[in-house]
Amino acid sequence: MRDTIVVGGGAAGMMAAIVAAEAGERVVLLEGSGKLGRKILISGNGRCNLTNMGADDLRHYHGTHPHFARTALDQFHLEDTLSFFGDLGLEFREEKRRRLFPMSDQAQSVVDLLADRMRGCGVEIETATKIIKMERDGCFVVWATDGRRFEGERVILASGGMSLARLGADRTGMDMAVASGHRLTPLEPGLVPLISPEKYLARLQGVKLRAEVSFASAGGRRISDTDDLLIAKYGVSGFTILNLSARLVPQLRGGPVELRVNLFPNQSPEAISEKLQQRWQRHPHRTLALSFAGLLSAKLVRPLLRHWGYDLERPVGKIDKKTRWHLAQQLTSWPISVSGPRPFDYAEVTIGGINTADINPDTMESHLVPGLYFAGEMVDIHADLGGFNFQWAWASGVMAGRRRGS
Ligand SMILES: Cc1cc2nc3c(=O)[nH]c(=O)nc-3n(C[C@H](O)[C@H](O)[C@H](O)COP(=O)(O)OP(=O)(O)OC[C@H]3O[C@@H](n4cnc5c(N)ncnc54)[C@H](O)[C@@H]3O)c2cc1C
Repeated sequence: MRDTIVVGGGAAGMMAAIVAAEAGERVVLLEGSGKLGRKILISGNGRCNLTNMGADDLRHYHGTHPHFARTALDQFHLEDTLSFFGDLGLEFREEKRRRLFPMSDQAQSVVDLLADRMRGCGVEIETATKIIKMERDGCFVVWATDGRRFEGERVILASGGMSLARLGADRTGMDMAVASGHRLTPLEPGLVPLISPEKYLARLQGVKLRAEVSFASAGGRRISDTDDLLIAKYGVSGFTILNLSARLVPQLRGGPVELRVNLFPNQSPEAISEKLQQRWQRHPHRTLALSFAGLLSAKLVRPLLRHWGYDLERPVGKIDKKTRWHLAQQLTSWPISVSGPRPFDYAEVTIGGINTADINPDTMESHLVPGLYFAGEMVDIHADLGGFNFQWAWASGVMAGRRRGS
């Protein structure tokens, strides 16, 4: 019998296994797929954005009770992540939005170093071992699909979320938790492109631009993000949309939400109206479509102005002030309605998971089943784009790996 069984060889499970084994526990880590850390390998386009310089800021973490994440994040800070991985031999490079990547630019190095540390501290690693049943009969017993059983004094469930079924993600881990009495909050795709009912967007398919995108939260506060916006046949994507989706998707349960896109980030309609006036005064003979050359992409401007009902061929010298002001307002506050997320196969994380009301935030141990711990994405905490989801996986993995009171 082992002291600790870890179910799931992703970021949170590997971290939990290392912490438990380094504290002297006999640990077995059971991973359903043939490889450890498959999501780490594909993360950050194969480079793994493993944390963020702003990782200690709780505002980047969301869920039904986002404050649940505070203890883990306070116990395992960004500094701790840097020194843990630094000690493994990983050096960091900081990129835009304060994201941190391995200097090697290879996610594989993160997995290799974690696996090396696990072996170094004696973690038994069983891949291709999918756990489908868990029972508590004095100790814990878990069964794999091939009938093998493993016994342990405690279990850490770190089986991840629902995104990317092709990498083996499913809800068997969550179902085991539910079977032992834990509640699940609604599961939805997060960090995901959004579907729009606006048919004209198909004519803008493939357009990529930098824009400020915002929406009004349920509480009326405007939430905005400025980065790449990609228009697709189904709706919208790009860094800014994926990031906003962490907070927007739960709101879509109540019906479509209107995004507002400012094609001139941080500039007011007054400033844009003035800019147009100057450009139009200089070249009054130019058509409305041509007047944007060098300012906005024709692939965007032509279909958009047509959709808004403008005459593209009209010389700008003949356009009155009122029309110019109206256009400036539209360019700085282009409304796009979105009605839902794309499916889990396009999502980087799962919104929702094991209800945090059933977990002790100080230990990650279940309130209902003593000796059962949770870590990572399967818990109802998700975070913004930019390395925050891994920070949650590392921090909650560390907490779960520490035995209660140790
Ligand atoms: C395309 C993509 C890119 C991403 N990029 C980033 C990024 O750059 N930065 C960032 O912070 N986050 C990123 N994420 C999110 C990040 O990968 C996850 O939040 C993180 O991997 C969660 O870690 P975890 O250990 O909780 O779950 P996972 O990494 O999903 O690990 C869970 C493990 O459990 C195994 N498992 C599941 N069920 C069972 C079972 N019944 N028995 C045994 N094993 C089981 C799975 O095979 C898996 O290996 C990305 C996600 C995706 C999909």
